Amino acid sequence: MHEWCIMNGGSEAETRAARSALSVLRLIAACPVITGRRASSSSRESPFSDLSDTHSPRVPSFIYRVSLMKKPQVVFVLGGPGAGKGTQCSKIVENYCYTHLSAGDLLRAERAREGSEFGQLIASHIKEGKIVPVEITINLLRKAMEETMQKDAKKFRFLIDGFPRNEDNLQGWKKDMDDKADVKFVLFFDCGNEVCINRCLERGKSSGRTDDNRESLEKRLQTYLQSTRPIIELYEKQGKVRSVDASRSVDEVFADVKAILEKED
Ligand code: ADP
Ligand code: AMP
Repeated sequence: MHEWCIMNGGSEAETRAARSALSVLRLIAACPVITGRRASSSSRESPFSDLSDTHSPRVPSFIYRVSLMKKPQVVFVLGGPGAGKGTQCSKIVENYCYTHLSAGDLLRAERAREGSEFGQLIASHIKEGKIVPVEITINLLRKAMEETMQKDAKKFRFLIDGFPRNEDNLQGWKKDMDDKADVKFVLFFDCGNEVCINRCLERGKSSGRTDDNRESLEKRLQTYLQSTRPIIELYEKQGKVRSVDASRSVDEVFADVKAILEKED
């Protein structure tokens, strides 16, 4: 695993060269004569703050991209509720250089955040198994990606779990993220409805989740079948879906996941 990280993150010499280049570029950015504007106080601009954000200083954003020379690489992880997306993502993170971002976890954290203006809305959507408006989800995802890469530029591979869940999600991604990240493929955990429901009911004994009960689960499953399956089919037509039979044991599923990741690399 370690070698895999170094290979993909660049050698020490490359890192040193990138740092030197970054220092030079920062000097240029700080020079008002060259940039034609006041220097930014921040030396760690986001790769995501670009021309669509009129308040963002443009030069450091560009410089940051050049210094990274890596666009975020994204694998969308989809499947029914309880298909084992979270379980498999944890195993991937243990074995490969990926950061796991779960749309559901991010929404639950935002729901719990004191002072969040969306707390109530998120809570009611989750309980009803409905899909939260994309602007909220995309902002949380973008912020999480940005923070991850600002902490460690080598962490540019993301598993985005539970997204895109419907057409609204897909359009939101196209509008805001298409030019900022590359979607490599969709990892699809294919699992029968009954197995999904039983796993979630079992999880509900200890998860404390407001939606791991039969009533919410039936709604979540409907949302999955009506809204998410068509998105998976759409990606299927583009040849971008890598399916795994997720009804088997955790280890059997992971053996297939490993084979997929190693083939895709
Ligand atoms: P998801 O993220 O798709 O909602 P989880 O990964 O949280 O699903 O898994 C749902 C529940 O099922 C959890 O309690 C988990 O421990 C269990 N689980 C996950 N994968 C399997 C599997 N392959 N076989 C049996 N149980 C599983
Ligand atoms: P999960 O943790 O993936 O099972 O998601 C739990 C709930 O969070 C879902 O039933 C939705 O209400 C909400 N949610 C998760 N992902 C998304 C998303 N991509 N867009 C909107 N809402 C979502």
